[in-house]
Amino acid sequence: MNRFEVVTPADLIHAGKLLAEPYHAALAGGVDLLDLLKQRVVGPKTLVNLKTLPGIGTIDPDDAGGIRVGALVKLHEVSVNPAVGRNFAALADAAGQAATPQIRNLATVGGNLLQRPRCWYFRNPNVSCLKKGGDTCYAAKGLNRYHAILGGGPSFIVHPSNLAPALIAFGASAKLIGPEGERTVALEEFFTLPKTDPTRENVLKPGEVLTQVLIPAPPRGARSVYLEAREKQSFDWPLVSVATVIATDAGVVRHARVVMGAVAPIPWRSPEAEKAVTGSHLDADTATRGAEAALKPAAPLADNRYKVPMARALVRRAIMRAGGIEEVA
Ligand SMILES: Cc1cc2nc3c(=O)[nH]c(=O)nc-3n(C[C@H](O)[C@H](O)[C@H](O)COP(=O)(O)OP(=O)(O)OC[C@H]3O[C@@H](n4cnc5c(N)ncnc54)[C@H](O)[C@@H]3O)c2cc1C
Ligand code: SF4
Repeated sequence: MNRFEVVTPADLIHAGKLLAEPYHAALAGGVDLLDLLKQRVVGPKTLVNLKTLPGIGTIDPDDAGGIRVGALVKLHEVSVNPAVGRNFAALADAAGQAATPQIRNLATVGGNLLQRPRCWYFRNPNVSCLKKGGDTCYAAKGLNRYHAILGGGPSFIVHPSNLAPALIAFGASAKLIGPEGERTVALEEFFTLPKTDPTRENVLKPGEVLTQVLIPAPPRGARSVYLEAREKQSFDWPLVSVATVIATDAGVVRHARVVMGAVAPIPWRSPEAEKAVTGSHLDADTATRGAEAALKPAAPLADNRYKVPMARALVRRAIMRAGGIEEVA
């Protein structure tokens, strides 16, 4: 790890000015950043400590039935907050299933959305792949069992955040403050594919701080579900995850959002699945149709074909559960 200093800014404007300077990096819970430092993937000279910034550490209702989640709110707080549990159950479950209790008490919402990919080539200090400015994606023809089955190329990372698919399923936006002022970006637009720029995962600009996540009120009568499959029960990222938000009228799907995680370089919303189920009576056949549509565009690599049936099964189950139908074994 290189030597660095830690600076605690007085407010968000000060933080933004510091972060606009070269070799400065934002420090929230530090779970990912310190790993990246230790793995010598990044080498900032100054860490800008966001932890004491006022006004971005709470979960508050807005005037229209939605909530505002501060970037410094911990994953544990998201998982147990009554307002989140009541109206945004998939988000509470996504936060509660991430990592371990210790990590959930350190890791913040902002840091979770902005954590870097887990690709082992990226995390290896001796490898300079496309994502680090090199000219080769070593995963494409190398060891790729945890990599993308959708939206991959030229880099095949999967986005590691549990929260992101759930937040996108609820139509959430990110509020950003930087040297050019404040802006709000729909989270669906916030994350970017490697074909835009393989070295980046999102549109955060130098000097910008993610301050809040804005989640609108869910559609009338909507139910949400978050499911994930892991190799280990704890201390692990998902192999595949899915968040669904579904509202029905007399059993017919009026609103559907289906977003998969850990299958693509961005949280992967599936308009195909949403279209396949909307307007249909929600039953096992409809859920199967939605799941098949979701995975139709999949293009697995040599070692990760297992993710296709796994994701199909999770999407089907999540659609059914959001419709109140339990699978019969
Ligand atoms: C063993 C283990 C298992 C894990 N399992 C999971 C899992 O199952 N699911 C999952 O989602 N995650 C998992 N994680 C990852 C963990 O959730 C993230 O590392 C954590 O959420 C990062 O949050 P943080 O506050 O510690 O961020 P930091 O490490 O402080 O920051 C992460 C990045 O975001 C930047 N940053 C942070 N906050 C802001 C902000 N407000 N504005 C601008 N930039 C910012 C930092 O500069 C840094 O680049 C796991 C981690 C470990 C170690
Ligand atoms: S998947 Fe991305 S991070 Fe991994 S080796 Fe390829 S370019 Fe690098």
